[in-house]
Amino acid sequence: VLDAGFFTSWIVEAARLVRAEKDRLTRLDTAIGDGDHGTNLDRGLSAAAAALAERRPAVPGAVLALAGSTLIRKVGGASGPLYGTALREAGRTLGESPEVSPAELARALRAAVDGVRSLGSAAEGDKTMVDALAPAAGALARAVQEGLDLPAALEAAASAAGAGARATVPLEARKGRASYLGPRSAGHEDPGAASSALLLRALHTVAT
Ligand code: ADP
Ligand code: MG
Ligand code: MG
Repeated sequence: VLDAGFFTSWIVEAARLVRAEKDRLTRLDTAIGDGDHGTNLDRGLSAAAAALAERRPAVPGAVLALAGSTLIRKVGGASGPLYGTALREAGRTLGESPEVSPAELARALRAAVDGVRSLGSAAEGDKTMVDALAPAAGALARAVQEGLDLPAALEAAASAAGAGARATVPLEARKGRASYLGPRSAGHEDPGAASSALLLRALHTVAT
């Protein structure tokens, strides 16, 4: 069931996976940014996991709200407010309900993407986390609509996020720090898209 424990496990698994992939995220951000994305997200997600362990929110919406505020507080870079807003917007759509349906999860992911878009004003193709998150939200909505079970639906979402992240390689960045490089930003995967793919992969892992 998609209860507070499920979403807490997701943040814990996301923190674990980001720590395992921290050096790769940092390498990607060294190529087209300032080299801090791995450490930024590692710090933010471990702080979020610690805050959840301490406060133990009772409903999914409150788990996502606390994780989001912690990211905003602990991550200095652009990704902190963006991911923090994504989590808070997702949490807001879930309200106080103690259990979330797959359809509500799909709506929450859509709200997360919309939150990132309105804060960062990036469109798909601008070589940002939106390039992984937007296809994932679309894939999850379609999979749920088609009646796939949750692990299969989240596999579709995670695969779409991974494909979206890999597809940022040839793009020229139009938002964020990497856009300062202009054409020289092409040829590297966007670090935020890469970390978004990890967050979706972690969501699939905890649902399996
Ligand atoms: P900073 O660039 O401040 O050092 P991070 O390195 O933690 O922050 O995060 C960089 C990532 O944030 C980028 O790879 C990109 O995916 C994402 N990002 C930056 N600006 C935007 C934006 N305006 N909209 C969406 N995502 C963005
Ligand atoms: Mg950076
Ligand atoms: Mg930075």
